[in-house]
Amino acid sequence: MGEVAEQNGNGIPRTVLIVDDDEAIREAMHEFIERFGFMVNEAASAEEALDMLRTAVVDVVVTDIMLPGKDGLNLTDEVRRRYDSDVIVMTGYSGNYSYEEAINKGASDFVFKPVRFEELLLRLKRVLRERGLRQERDRVVKELKTLAITDGLTQLYNSRHFYIQLEVEAGRCTRYNHSLTLLLMDIDHFKNYNDAYGHLEGDKVLVRLSRIIKSCLRQMDSAFRYGGDEFTVLLPETRVEEGKTVAYRIKEAVRAQNFFPLPDEKAVNFTISIGVAQYKAPEEIASFIQRADRAMYASKQEGRNRVSILVA
Ligand code: GH3
Ligand code: MG
Repeated sequence: MGEVAEQNGNGIPRTVLIVDDDEAIREAMHEFIERFGFMVNEAASAEEALDMLRTAVVDVVVTDIMLPGKDGLNLTDEVRRRYDSDVIVMTGYSGNYSYEEAINKGASDFVFKPVRFEELLLRLKRVLRERGLRQERDRVVKELKTLAITDGLTQLYNSRHFYIQLEVEAGRCTRYNHSLTLLLMDIDHFKNYNDAYGHLEGDKVLVRLSRIIKSCLRQMDSAFRYGGDEFTVLLPETRVEEGKTVAYRIKEAVRAQNFFPLPDEKAVNFTISIGVAQYKAPEEIASFIQRADRAMYASKQEGRNRVSILVA
């Protein structure tokens, strides 16, 4: 035959599920479509098809409308609501079902019975092409969304996302009486390192310290690059005392890290100054950040490499 296998962008063959209660039609269609490189499965009823969809990934369901039990339109409806598969509906000219009905249920295309296999193949290819474009667009949108909230250097969330997340978490505190603690931290004397070893070496430090900060957090916590050498951490469901423990953990982990900007020289270590504040619902976001910032500033004033909490 020599046909090129129908594949998605990842080189995996496209999967088609044929649903028809007539075994002879199913088999003939199966054999024809398979020759073009598709993976083909068969089901004799809507119920059987839904069973298969629960465990298998199917790109396109090709279904007869007249089926024993649940009919093809109801199957289309259920597939579109619950699974990420396209549906092509087959029906006789004299049937009681209309093209509009099938499309309204979410069918991507429609063929009349008796089905001309070449026509079905063309429609299948068109549906798959559109499906491929849609998947590619969804992937790009997802990637852009991630880029929009990520700091390019450290891969932590950026400050724009910090403000959005903070609004969300503070809202939760106000509505449900949850607790929320914010850590604001700044690397000590970072400018000296940049001046001594250059900006690129400084960037490497920012990247590694970001990983360390993240490694000290739970799944539900988030770390952000707030500015140049400043980071913030949001700790939902956390009171200030526990927040302080996390801050000490980060402070010690940072201090223990050795950097070698010049191969034969001894290690350079960093310290950070941290401010801790717990949200007092329903205070303004700006005032919450300001309290953490003032606590961080107090850490700097008192000699750096420390954790501070402002009382009141
Ligand atoms: P301290 O915080 O202890 O008061 O002293 P510092 O030297 O760290 O001073 P400050 O926090 O005010 O200055 C931040 C410095 O961080 C300034 C700049 O040299 C450096 N910096 C900011 N952003 C970047 C960056 O993206 N890459 C690098 N390599 N350095 C940066
Ligand atoms: Mg600094």
